Amino acid sequence: MTRVTVLAGGVGGARFIRGLLQQLASVDAGSEVTVIVNTGDDMWLDGLRICPDLDTVMYTLGGGISEEQGWGRPDESRRTSSEIAAYGRGWSWFTLGDLDLATHIVRTDLLRNGATLSAATEFLCRRWQPGARLLPMSDQFVETHVRLAEDADEHRASELIHFEEWWVRYRAGKAVTEFVQVGLADAVAAPGVIEAILTADLVILPPSNPVVSVGTILAIPGIRDALRATTARVVGIAPIIAGSAVRGMADACLTTIGVETSALAVGLHYGSRQGDGVLDAWLVDETDAAAVPALEAAGIRAVAVPLWMTDVPATARIAAEALRISAELTAAPDLPVAEFGYSGRASTP
Ligand code: GDP
Ligand code: CA
Repeated sequence: MTRVTVLAGGVGGARFIRGLLQQLASVDAGSEVTVIVNTGDDMWLDGLRICPDLDTVMYTLGGGISEEQGWGRPDESRRTSSEIAAYGRGWSWFTLGDLDLATHIVRTDLLRNGATLSAATEFLCRRWQPGARLLPMSDQFVETHVRLAEDADEHRASELIHFEEWWVRYRAGKAVTEFVQVGLADAVAAPGVIEAILTADLVILPPSNPVVSVGTILAIPGIRDALRATTARVVGIAPIIAGSAVRGMADACLTTIGVETSALAVGLHYGSRQGDGVLDAWLVDETDAAAVPALEAAGIRAVAVPLWMTDVPATARIAAEALRISAELTAAPDLPVAEFGYSGRASTP
């Protein structure tokens, strides 16, 4: 049995895990996957607790996702949002479909009756049966905000606004000076999170946003230390291909924290576990093969393979490569990284 723990954001994380589950089902039917999900994008909206990344992972793995959007439910209607807007309330730029609202209503009901976010998530997953254990990174509410560099509509320069307002309303088009995790000082990792990292056979950083998805999870006290302490191998998958953020606007986040939008820079930003970082290995796309020597020189085992998650089989092949590298590193734990060299394309395990 293989225990795999994944630290995920929304769309990129969910797509990857779908491929991972398919791959594991074909090679190791008894495997267990735990997903530690970013909740930094969560917010209160119209009186409801919205958890965008948890819902994206749950719907994607549970067969309830809108494939064309990558988030939310298919065949949605907006009757309720229109009614809320008629009262002059709600955030016009953040879509809440009628079917999706049911999830937020049930979650909020559970929270108001004293359930933790972990318990509410477990309850929602009983319906969706995602095939993996989903854990919020924390049961405390930690919300990512951005500090505006300039005035924007009703907001003044240097004001903090919710990350989702910057991301969805402004399409990350307004310059920001920093990301602030409001609530972080009082947050601890949710039950099971640290154990899932420490007792895993493999920990994966999927191609999720390295700043506001994985970066936020790593900011929760104890999680980064657990990644450094685990006996499992930590394998990451570059969310950047040929200098571009593939789907979405991760480049705006990287620029804000002073990291170049490249597979190499993001790998070095996570850093090697042989130094003060969190990675044993880093998969880059085949078009980024030139980054491999620099990554290996920094103590990160690097392999270049196709990283476009075009469909589930293509994504399963990426997951297979992560499993293969983990097995290879586990079989030869004492080899200095520099001696591994560049193995090129995936070979069979
Ligand atoms: P979000 O919370 O919905 O923004 O989703 P995540 O943080 O999990 O992932 C978003 C990131 O996934 C994007 O910024 C891209 O960098 C990355 N991504 C999306 N599609 C692909 C893909 O096909 N291949 C790779 N390598 N990365 C992808
Ligand atoms: Ca997200």
